[in-house]
Amino acid sequence: MGAGLSGLACAITLEKHGISPAVFEVRERLGDRFVNAESMLSILQKPITDPVAFFAEKNGIYLKPTASIQRLLVFSQSQKAEIEGSLGFINYRGRHEHAFERQLGRQVKSAIQYRSKATYEELLMEYTHVVVATGDGEYTRKMHNFRTDLTVSLKGAMVTGDFDRYTPCAWLDYSYMEKGYGYLLPLSDTEANLVMAYPDYPENDRLDVDERWGLFYERVCRDLRQPLRITSHFHVTGYPIGICRRARIGNTFFVGNCFGALMPFLGFGQFTALLTGIYAAYDICGKGAYEELTQPLRRSYENSLVLRRAVERLDNEDLDRIVPVLGSRWGESILQGKSFNALRWLAFALRPWMTKR
Ligand SMILES: Cc1cc2nc3c(=O)[nH]c(=O)nc-3n(C[C@H](O)[C@H](O)[C@H](O)COP(=O)(O)OP(=O)(O)OC[C@H]3O[C@@H](n4cnc5c(N)ncnc54)[C@H](O)[C@@H]3O)c2cc1C
Repeated sequence: MGAGLSGLACAITLEKHGISPAVFEVRERLGDRFVNAESMLSILQKPITDPVAFFAEKNGIYLKPTASIQRLLVFSQSQKAEIEGSLGFINYRGRHEHAFERQLGRQVKSAIQYRSKATYEELLMEYTHVVVATGDGEYTRKMHNFRTDLTVSLKGAMVTGDFDRYTPCAWLDYSYMEKGYGYLLPLSDTEANLVMAYPDYPENDRLDVDERWGLFYERVCRDLRQPLRITSHFHVTGYPIGICRRARIGNTFFVGNCFGALMPFLGFGQFTALLTGIYAAYDICGKGAYEELTQPLRRSYENSLVLRRAVERLDNEDLDRIVPVLGSRWGESILQGKSFNALRWLAFALRPWMTKR
């Protein structure tokens, strides 16, 4: 139920094991929403450092990003860091022929039923197994199986300008939205996606989002030393970040965001969404138990939540101290160490401090 990243990864894997799934999608085509850029960062899924190679080699799922990330510029209120290395990938999502969901759709052989009105309850009666992959946690919540930890909003735009497609930028500066951040992901040398992401906390609800967006946009133009031209806008509000209590109930599997793919620290969810789809298929094929396979992902989610609560205690002065460290030789080697999972260790170290709160 749902032909997004997790649902399609599940369908492809089932087919590879000789099972023909029925795929139901509420929209009239794949990726039928605004176009945006998303990324997969290597540091977030260690020890896997190359997610594109991982899905190809281990799962026969082929993803074509628009570029690999070879340099990342990070700006705080008054500091800047430059991190070099193989840091991840950038890809299209939404209504674009190269969007990941369209790429996956081309690898699925079974028919996809578009404009589906089938409810979960109806599918449950008709099929042996149901994979809930609707991307929004609605059914998971309705079944009292979802713990929402926070909701976030993302205000973004497609912009044109002069970009290095291998170099995205991030802004860690709470002057625009409290505990939020901004990023610019180039999709080509002339087009990029500029986004301001922020938690829906009361201190942000009181702010004029359009005014804050305007200030953020001016800062980005200043930092990049060029006027950016906005070609389209989007605004996602109340996007839930949380995790299911049980990954499998009876013969129903919760995958993607319905599992808890969206990580609270920075809001990345693509990698886990794909993996949960694959793991649900493994279970259905008798190749593993979904609850067990997803245990490491559940731990990553909880670690990511610890990190989110920790960064929320920081202010702009702290961020000005941290950002130069990221760009130092020491910071780079921690971020890029192949086997050392810096975020897991940081979460481990912070956990007692955060739970005492
Ligand atoms: C603006 C934005 C930026 C993001 N940036 C990043 C990023 O940079 N990196 C990253 O890793 N993650 C990012 N994410 C998160 C990432 O996109 C999600 O975690 C991931 O797509 C979740 O996959 P999914 O399969 O759960 O849902 P989706 O890929 O969203 O797919 C859900 C599908 O289910 C369909 N559907 C919904 N309801 C029904 C129904 N009742 N019946 C049938 N079909 C239904 C939908 O139409 C959709 O096709 C971002 C999210 C947003 C919104």
